[in-house]
Amino acid sequence: MISVGKALKIIDEHIEPLGSERVTIDECVGRVLAEAIVADCDMPPFDRAQMDGYALRSRDTRNVPVNLAIVGEAAAGRGWHKHLERGEAVRIMTGAPVPDGADAVQKIELTKEYDSIVSLIDRVPKGQFIVEKGKEIRKGDTIVTAGTLVTPEMLATPAAFGYSKIKVAKRPRVAIISTGSEIVEIGKKPKRDQIRDSNSVLLKSLCERAGANVVSCACALDDLAELVERIESDAANADVVITTGGVSVGKYDLTKEAFAKAGAKIHFDRVALKPGKPAVFAKRRRKIIFGLPGNPVSAAVTFHLFVRRALGLLESAADPAMRRGFASMYARLRGNKGRDTYFPARLVNSADGKLVAVPLPWSGSSDFVSFAHAEALVVIPKLTTFNEGDVADILYL
Ligand code: AMP
Ligand code: MG
Repeated sequence: MISVGKALKIIDEHIEPLGSERVTIDECVGRVLAEAIVADCDMPPFDRAQMDGYALRSRDTRNVPVNLAIVGEAAAGRGWHKHLERGEAVRIMTGAPVPDGADAVQKIELTKEYDSIVSLIDRVPKGQFIVEKGKEIRKGDTIVTAGTLVTPEMLATPAAFGYSKIKVAKRPRVAIISTGSEIVEIGKKPKRDQIRDSNSVLLKSLCERAGANVVSCACALDDLAELVERIESDAANADVVITTGGVSVGKYDLTKEAFAKAGAKIHFDRVALKPGKPAVFAKRRRKIIFGLPGNPVSAAVTFHLFVRRALGLLESAADPAMRRGFASMYARLRGNKGRDTYFPARLVNSADGKLVAVPLPWSGSSDFVSFAHAEALVVIPKLTTFNEGDVADILYL
């Protein structure tokens, strides 16, 4: 049995990036950037008014009240491109370029306009309501680095700098096989002794969230010949094959044998981890194969720990590790003697501002009902007990 750390190292050593492709900007959320996003101009590209009002010279308002002559109008997209002189003001709208000679804007609510004159009763400090050219970003600055998973929040910047297409990592193609003679597709009514397939849909959405493209999802019986055939054909059509079930020591746990028969080399098959001890990592030529345990919670935990990392590495993610943090324990949690535990928890904030991990009521690795509310895994090293209030490492899901 190897440690989780060792298992992650083995994965790291066996995975090479898939390369990149260019996609239109609206297709790149959830993908990993394969190029840095660099500003192609200053932002803002000109001194920009931040308010509707009047552009003026601050020093003309030294003695207020004062009247200034309105000599023009600057709107967004249609500036006033003469030089503003002493005693003058230009009517200006939010987003318009501030005219040369002006060094401040007064907002319309604090002025009165009549007969091309604007009256001001307050002094206007220099620079007020102007965002200087290049204040937000300078031409040539890197805004987002390669290897970052793109979120909707990141999209406005590449758009502002003209990236109509963006180089992103190729999406790993994933095939999912739910093994088990008791498993039926969710649309079917389980007969006696059967249960519905909870794993495929869970793993599919986890894969998609990690930027992968699930090309097939199928159920397979605990039958060696069928498993071998399925693994061989899926490995031909996908970069990653994920199976669930059949990795323990029962008579009909045939997945590992099927991996070997399909020509895959097993790199690990037992990890000192709870839940998820029998997780398997194998390779068939360049193709990656994971054999996850059948219990939905074990499958989810081992997916987060191992498969997500593998997908991240295939996509050249800058940080393929799960996001770590700390939380204080809401209740006592005891670790296992021989294995590190990754205990599902909800996260809440206490009144004094602490992040608190609330362990989910968990009666074992088949308890996927309470896992529905999981937001993080509490890492409990073997032989460790956390008491209420102790600070533990957590991994965000
Ligand atoms: P196994 O890993 O094959 O020993 O399965 C462990 C437990 O998980 C058994 O109770 C299975 O019935 C259950 N299980 C296996 N695959 C699935 C699945 N796709 N959906 C829901 N439960 C499953
Ligand atoms: Mg089984």
